[in-house]
Amino acid sequence: MVTKLTDNPDIQDILTREKALQDSGAYVYMKEIEGTTNRTVMSGGSEMIMLGSYSYLGLIDHPEIMKASEDALRKYGAGAGGVRLLTGTTTIHKELEDKLAKFKKTEDAIVFSSGFMTNIAVLSSLFDQRDLIVIDRFAHQSIYDGAGLSKAKWMKFRHNDLDHLRAILKLHRPNYKRVVIVVDAVYSMDGDIAPMPEIIEIAKEYDAFTMVDEAHSIGVLGEKGTGIEEYFGLDPDAIDLKMGTFSKSIPSIGGYLAAKKDVITYLRFTGHPFVFSAALPPASVGAAMKALDVILAEPERVKMLHKNIDYFLNGVKALGFDVLKSKDTAIIPVMIGDNIQTFGFAKAMHDAGIFVSPIVYPAVPHDGGRLRCCVMATHTKEDLDKVIGAMGHIGKAMGIIK
Ligand code: PMP
Repeated sequence: MVTKLTDNPDIQDILTREKALQDSGAYVYMKEIEGTTNRTVMSGGSEMIMLGSYSYLGLIDHPEIMKASEDALRKYGAGAGGVRLLTGTTTIHKELEDKLAKFKKTEDAIVFSSGFMTNIAVLSSLFDQRDLIVIDRFAHQSIYDGAGLSKAKWMKFRHNDLDHLRAILKLHRPNYKRVVIVVDAVYSMDGDIAPMPEIIEIAKEYDAFTMVDEAHSIGVLGEKGTGIEEYFGLDPDAIDLKMGTFSKSIPSIGGYLAAKKDVITYLRFTGHPFVFSAALPPASVGAAMKALDVILAEPERVKMLHKNIDYFLNGVKALGFDVLKSKDTAIIPVMIGDNIQTFGFAKAMHDAGIFVSPIVYPAVPHDGGRLRCCVMATHTKEDLDKVIGAMGHIGKAMGIIK
């Protein structure tokens, strides 16, 4: 008998679930988009309200950002032609890093080809077998993968549970040389915020470092949208390692770490995704760079985003939906329950012209199925009213709300 690559129970389980979902007619994953991805998209030949995009400030089709991307493409070509260290660093790669360092008020910054790769590079290069990485249970997968690739020991603490974090540090701190606490600023499935001031205090108490993933907080937290320090009024040096991406509010691709100069210099010579992988294409660098300018020049977008977040949050709460502890962030989880109901709800929303993502196990706990609603600055009141109306209607028909 010939062995097949898929002869593995875990693979078979995924394939069976995928088929069952396809057969149920409730499949909304990998749905093709035929037009732009701002507040509405064209899909299946009709216009839908986009409620699943990470482009929180609606910058994805901003004319100045698209022009900067085009200009960079024309000036430097379609690709970077090599790795950063040797042949892939253009003038704009350096300018982008300088701009990021200013934006995050740090000494220096380094960019990588994605946010995912940034977490891999930082954690796997900076920490070794003498060190301990302590991670919030709900932090992004790339943080776990980075910690796994490092030689350090890593542990999880219960989500936003400061007592548990303290207990872990109390027990284990003495056994390690360096300890780093890693959290997401805004959690991508729950839409809540890390209690950063308290985490920083705990880190000081136990002589630990802090690292924050700002994928979902840049452009969202703080009046100017510069992130978690601005939101909590923290000193710019309060967090040691500040990581973020160009795939959400900043409409491009790539990721960065902003930190002290020595740390960044070290990563330029040792971060495997930096040294052994090609540089970001110039068009992506041009877009990211201009987006940083636009975020600062157009603070009304951040204001509008928060107006929309509050309006939407109040609307779905008034209907009786559970939205966990989501507040002040553009991610609003509308809790549904089991996988089948969640898919059914999402499909009904799609049929009503609303593009929204169902999130189920294993991304979230069993029975923690939800619609992850992403609010944008560019949504109109009519868009949000239509979404809230549809949710009320479908929620009642499915018996999820009264
Ligand atoms: N961190 C978080 C919290 C994320 O949500 C994501 C992407 N969803 C990443 C990192 C990875 O970023 P990128 O898409 O730029 O690779």
